[in-house]
Amino acid sequence: MTVEAPAHAVPTEEIASRAAEVDRDGRFPAESVEALRRDGLLGLGVGPDHGGPGGTPVEVVRAIEQVAGACASTGMVYVMHLVATQTMLAGTDGGVLAETAGRIAAGEHLTTLAYSEKGSRSHFWAQVSRAERDGEGVRFDADKSWVTSAGHVDSYLTAVGAPGADDPTTTELYLVDADAPGISITGSYDGVGMRGNASVPMSFRSVRVASERRIGEPASGFGLMMAATLPWFVLGSAACSVGIAGAALDAVAAHASKARFEHLDGTSLADLPTVRARLADAKVRHMQARALLYEVAGQVGAGAPEAQLGVLALKAAAAEMAIEVTDRAMRVGGGAAYSRHLPLERLFRDARAASVMAPTTDLLYDFIGKAITGQELF
Ligand SMILES: Cc1cc2nc3c(=O)[nH]c(=O)nc-3n(C[C@H](O)[C@H](O)[C@H](O)COP(=O)(O)OP(=O)(O)OC[C@H]3O[C@@H](n4cnc5c(N)ncnc54)[C@H](O)[C@@H]3O)c2cc1C
Repeated sequence: MTVEAPAHAVPTEEIASRAAEVDRDGRFPAESVEALRRDGLLGLGVGPDHGGPGGTPVEVVRAIEQVAGACASTGMVYVMHLVATQTMLAGTDGGVLAETAGRIAAGEHLTTLAYSEKGSRSHFWAQVSRAERDGEGVRFDADKSWVTSAGHVDSYLTAVGAPGADDPTTTELYLVDADAPGISITGSYDGVGMRGNASVPMSFRSVRVASERRIGEPASGFGLMMAATLPWFVLGSAACSVGIAGAALDAVAAHASKARFEHLDGTSLADLPTVRARLADAKVRHMQARALLYEVAGQVGAGAPEAQLGVLALKAAAAEMAIEVTDRAMRVGGGAAYSRHLPLERLFRDARAASVMAPTTDLLYDFIGKAITGQELF
């Protein structure tokens, strides 16, 4: 399987040119998202039946890897849009949701996921909110703790407890219009990394949604999360981790070759065996995680049964790899990295998000342990 040739050209230089400023000012990368729209990338993965270009998981992952390597904040915005889109497509057979898919394919609609709730923390598949039936639809209150791109999207793919449900995993997903009455942003984002991704808390109060905006059948939220959101989010998150670590490796290798000791006959950092060994170790880890990424993307595309364990392992492997690789890059980059002369400290901060984003690395280790010892995950 080739992973080098991008199926869709990504405007990486343009996106990368704004990354430092997006990070410094903690501002939403609106121009970079516009560049993705302009170049037809917001519709990636949407099939021709909805007017989109299609795109296999391998092609989607390749695009995300490039975007995240250029700007991690833009990468996360792009991931949440693509994951919400794929989840919507998995439960859409016509009507208003199909129309929205058409607008996404045309680059006219940006969306995101509003799953995580204050009450259930990182267990995104569990909702403490409960919808009530309201005519031909539902009405609900919910406190969402992190919503990437909040305030910058056209819709929120929102999870809520199903009407009458007595357990937190009996849920429903609704595509809620961004201008629906009762929605508000209740905080700001001042995270360590991904500083432009605008992941903020949101309040939903007495928000009414028509049943035609429900994704899939009644009470099908958990099933859709497991069948669509989880695999696509894992692929997207891992592609971000691989893109971020790859960018750090490129930057630190270039620095090590260039930085000179004038008093030692102009030798470079890369002439030091210790530096080369650290770079080599980081490169090996990056190659391993990248290979797993494309392997699992291929499995997801083929609907292979081994993809179930693959997605759990992939997110943990890629998230921890990115933390380790960017840590090694900081060490090799020395004071130049520490003092922000290189992009390494930004990438080091960006890399940390994946391990605490749900499902978190520690939770994944528990799931993987359960899976390989024949236990139920939930
Ligand atoms: C940059 C960013 C963007 C995000 N964007 C979105 C978004 O668009 N939409 C959305 O819905 N959410 C989003 N999230 C939320 C994210 O997915 C998690 O819900 C959030 O990071 C959890 O934080 P918490 O403090 O509630 O974690 P907690 O649940 O308090 O976890 C704290 C620690 O406990 C550990 N832990 C928890 N449960 C277990 C367990 N069962 N076994 C072992 N360890 C466990 C965790 O691994 C973690 O180390 C985003 C988060 C970040 C950082």
